[in-house]
Amino acid sequence: MKRYKNNKRFIISSKLIFKKIFEGFSMVEFDFESVMDGDAHINPLDMELLSREAGGYISANKNIFNNLKPLSDNARAILKESVKGTPMIKIGNGYPRLMIVSGIHGNELAPQVASLKLIDVLLKLKLRGTVYIIPFACPYASMMSNRYFKGTDLNRTAHIQNSISNVILSKARELGVSAIGDFHSTAPNTNPGKEGVFCSKSPTVESVSIASYISRSAGSNMIVYPAAGVPFKGAVEDEANLGGIPSVTCEVLSATSFANERICNRALVQMKSFLHYFGIFDEYMV
Ligand SMILES: [Zn+2]
Repeated sequence: MKRYKNNKRFIISSKLIFKKIFEGFSMVEFDFESVMDGDAHINPLDMELLSREAGGYISANKNIFNNLKPLSDNARAILKESVKGTPMIKIGNGYPRLMIVSGIHGNELAPQVASLKLIDVLLKLKLRGTVYIIPFACPYASMMSNRYFKGTDLNRTAHIQNSISNVILSKARELGVSAIGDFHSTAPNTNPGKEGVFCSKSPTVESVSIASYISRSAGSNMIVYPAAGVPFKGAVEDEANLGGIPSVTCEVLSATSFANERICNRALVQMKSFLHYFGIFDEYMV
């Protein structure tokens, strides 16, 4: 009986040892596959999914993908996460807290490319504050190169609960961000049809100060509206300003569904100007 007990104990402990060895092997295999795959789980990016409503394969949009080459590890991880929904990347800590949004219109490509390049730049800097970057507000629309998602303009729905732009705005409120920059492109012979920065005087006048700084430092035209939310409702910038979060909309000049290095760099210059207004970094890296 005693011997049987010992045997049983031996069998149990052997099983445990085997289990540990097996777990060890499977852990090694998992990590190896993750590295080879560029898995988001082991990428050091601090990334969160804001919405699972509109995931998309960004790499299917060749005008975005070709402008991202050579693809950085960070870009690869973000594209992978975008398949599941709207990713937000956090860089830095403390205040001010700033939010940069691109891809509210899926067919305006340059700012989306620029935001991935900005992430690589910011990760190399010591920031005084936190930057939250949403490179693809609606990855599905970006994949399709479509201004609309399910027939809806996301820059007219930020006031409608649970729309993707409303989810982004709610997140900004929850995080207590100090300002939002929403980055777009405008095609020639449309409105505004020129590189510019939109802002409004009322009710959040700092919108004008931010736009003025970007206008002077980046060389973009300044477009000032007397009041946010007029003549139309639901723009991310307007709804943020109406809610007391200073906000601007930046536009670079580009045909829709198109991007090249020069235009992407213009969007990047605007983004850096927006951040530099708040003294996030020392060097003005334009
Ligand atoms: Zn737009």
